[in-house]
Amino acid sequence: MMYDNLLSTVKTLYIIIYARLSKEEKDKQSKEEQSKSIKHQFEICREYIEEEKKEYPNCNFIIVEELYDDGISGTTFDRADFNKLKKLIENKKANMVITKDLSRLGRDHIETDNYIEKWFPEHNVRYVSIIENVDTYDVNNVSNDIAPLINWSNDQFAKTTSKKIRKEFKKMMKNGKWSGGEPPLGYIQNPNDKHHFIIEPVGAEIIKRIFKLALEGKTPKDISNILIKEKVPLPSTIKGNKRDLNINLWSTDTIRDILKNKMYLGHMVQGKTTKLNYKSKKIIYLPEEDWIVVENMHDPIIKESDFNKVQILIKSNKNKTTNTYDYLLKGMIKCKECHHAIGIQHFNKRNKNYTICSYYRKYGNKKDVCTSHRFHYEEIEKLIIESIKIECMQYVDDTNLAEKIKDKKQNIQLQADLKINIDTTNQKIFKIEKQIDTIYEDKLNNIIDDEQYKRIIKSKQENLEFERIKLINYQKELKRIKKNIETNYTKLINEFLEIKKPNKILIGKLIDKIEINEKGIIDIYYKIKKNI
Ligand SMILES: [Zn+2]
Repeated sequence: MMYDNLLSTVKTLYIIIYARLSKEEKDKQSKEEQSKSIKHQFEICREYIEEEKKEYPNCNFIIVEELYDDGISGTTFDRADFNKLKKLIENKKANMVITKDLSRLGRDHIETDNYIEKWFPEHNVRYVSIIENVDTYDVNNVSNDIAPLINWSNDQFAKTTSKKIRKEFKKMMKNGKWSGGEPPLGYIQNPNDKHHFIIEPVGAEIIKRIFKLALEGKTPKDISNILIKEKVPLPSTIKGNKRDLNINLWSTDTIRDILKNKMYLGHMVQGKTTKLNYKSKKIIYLPEEDWIVVENMHDPIIKESDFNKVQILIKSNKNKTTNTYDYLLKGMIKCKECHHAIGIQHFNKRNKNYTICSYYRKYGNKKDVCTSHRFHYEEIEKLIIESIKIECMQYVDDTNLAEKIKDKKQNIQLQADLKINIDTTNQKIFKIEKQIDTIYEDKLNNIIDDEQYKRIIKSKQENLEFERIKLINYQKELKRIKKNIETNYTKLINEFLEIKKPNKILIGKLIDKIEINEKGIIDIYYKIKKNI
């Protein structure tokens, strides 16, 4: 089991068994049935603990209290025994909570999630829900992913569900767990863990071949021609297990997508698209910097050095066919509607430059996607530079500026102090853990008796928890302070105002991104705002 590590750091679990009668049970059942339900919940929990004892003989399991609330609706956490449970935890009398199922903890999923995801972990409490196989100590337990979904089905209020599900998907993605449909060609879902890929040899060979051809200098167009000529089956037809060799639609885009796909390096790449809201079916393609990438989640098919070479080759292919002018704002402007880059087109005949939504340029005529966003580039550039200047002036006029810079210096000192505290606390924790190990060995070797052992271990355990909580607080504080400082923007602002012709690098330091909507209205997102 994966939580062996966590269990080995906490040698004694002080357990609260918690049961609850639902309002329905209270209303409909006889007194006898009700007490049976509570007894039954307690019994299942006790059985579970007996099993745990067998599985982890090195760990002590002590039932501190058996608590229950009856008949108070689960949507409120203001329940007498539940409050007692919280008190026990806050006073460090318990570090494990067990319920028969999630709905016993509560019916409001936001509150329940809050306990599972925040309150229990913050108090170093292991929470177990037997029926759904949820265990907050078991980081690799798949059931933990579905816990919030079960909470959701217990919830009466559906309005937050879509958001919640999206949040859960995001969480899965951030953990590198596949949450899409079919994996890309060359991989299949691991039958033992559908969030994880294993290599599918037939597809993987095709992928290797495509990269090999690209390394030889072939363009995506060349490669697609070769595959069609050789009647190599398409990704979709292989995946369906029907190797229909007659279909020959390897498109240049398919090849290009494969050659750029970092999944083949073993990374999990997800979150490429999003929806406006839960009612909308319209899919929006996100820019690459917003994708969720978790490295080294599965076996790679392509070597990183080869992959990088191919990226350079694809780029140089592109540059051969299109004119590359380096405009001041190139790569900084995004389409407000579809979030793709706004490109700049040069018309030789008119000797004029125009902006264009790159997504529209790619698909505009074929699909009903986005609009042209075509505007006279030089005008747009002039407007943007003027706006940035005006924004910068505001900061120069700000009389509080000096004050804020002073704060920054104090912040740096505070950060250094916190880092020292974190180091010291870490060392303390390490020391106490060592001591606990030694005491345990002493007990095994009968140097100390059971009574002594229990007494010493209890105080050590309390010390340990105290240091751990201190550590968490220091880390939180450091994170908060770090947010407040970063770059000194005053220098940049003055530089920008003095310079005749601003350069790309300087603008990049001041500006997060620029968006243009289809009517030509410009939104500039500044980095300076956040910090000064
Ligand atoms: Zn667009």
